[in-house]
Amino acid sequence: MKFNTKTIHGNQEHDKAYGAVMPPIYQTSTYAQSTPGGHKGYGYSRSGNPTRTALENSFASIENGTHGLAFGSGLAAIDAVMKLLKPGDEVISTSDLYGGTYRLFTKIFEGFGIKFHFVGMENASEIESYVTKNTKLIWVETPTNPMMTIIDIKACAEVAKKHRILLAVDNTFATPYLQQPLDLGADIVMHSATKYLGGHSDVVMGALVVKDKDLAEKLYFIQNASGAICGPQDSFLVLRGIKTLHIRMQRHCENGKVVAEYLKNHPKIEKVYWPGFEDHPNHGIAKAQMKDFGGMVSFTTKGNDYELAIKIVEKLKVFTLAESLGGVESLAGHPASMTHASIPKEEREKIGVVDSLIRLSVGIEDEEDLIADLKQAIG
Ligand SMILES: *Cc1c(COP(=O)(O)O)cnc(C)c1O
Repeated sequence: MKFNTKTIHGNQEHDKAYGAVMPPIYQTSTYAQSTPGGHKGYGYSRSGNPTRTALENSFASIENGTHGLAFGSGLAAIDAVMKLLKPGDEVISTSDLYGGTYRLFTKIFEGFGIKFHFVGMENASEIESYVTKNTKLIWVETPTNPMMTIIDIKACAEVAKKHRILLAVDNTFATPYLQQPLDLGADIVMHSATKYLGGHSDVVMGALVVKDKDLAEKLYFIQNASGAICGPQDSFLVLRGIKTLHIRMQRHCENGKVVAEYLKNHPKIEKVYWPGFEDHPNHGIAKAQMKDFGGMVSFTTKGNDYELAIKIVEKLKVFTLAESLGGVESLAGHPASMTHASIPKEEREKIGVVDSLIRLSVGIEDEEDLIADLKQAIG
């Protein structure tokens, strides 16, 4: 089965009771048993729920894995991965990281005795210099948020395999439409399904996909033991979202290109970060690893003009000033004060998140309306 068909049918079956084509929302916490332990595969909805199972099977299908796991948020999914580790273990992580992931690593898991090395990762050989006998996990986010750096997943997988380290990839920005990390050698794929997988800005959810039975069992144990699961209604909504992932992503990519090119030629704009430009430092890897370049575009104003940046985000009308990304509607964000406010200013600026940086999640509206909106806002 090819990708577009998988988004609709991958690992799905019609409802056994009445043949419902869409999976019923099993809004139940528990299940009748004929004799103690005698149930039809479900005993309690933290451990499993049929609507969630349908979604988890879809996650596995679209990422070319064998097992999918759904969580109450993207961060809950990352939290579950980190619970594979023990005090004294070390993690090598992308430095230009989603702010909430950085906060989870440094404010929660450092306190539990886990050591993190935040590394640029554009050059995979640099990763190797941080490997010690305690290194257990490499955490990669690509494209990075919000600087749109592209990291070579295959090269990271070679380092991970050589030293028997787990490789996890946050695939939120790219989605499996653009890249499939398990095929490139990763062990774990993670998603904030809140973003493109859900696609309609109406659910908060996380996902993990693996292709190894032992790893799947360990993560399922953590999912059930820690309990950060999602409900059946949200499972239904994300499953519905995934069915149009391929056509939404195609339009996000088309509109992203138009917006990136418009900004690049604007006299009041300094730098535009979008991996589709031939002069993007990692364009070659992006071209090799991704099917297209996505709908996320970041830019700074001429002379790092903070006042102008704030004026732009306030004046936008079709783009909504809001946290998050990946929905059908276009959003604009100001990372320094919003998504990345939890990262100290010094650290932030080291990775390029200056005060005039604006991040756009380009939606699937008509491109003419998006360009007209940017035009009136930038002036
Ligand atoms: C949003 C996001 C997360 C966190 O996911 P939540 O669903 O908000 O918990 C992690 N990584 C990336 C890249 C994100 O954009």
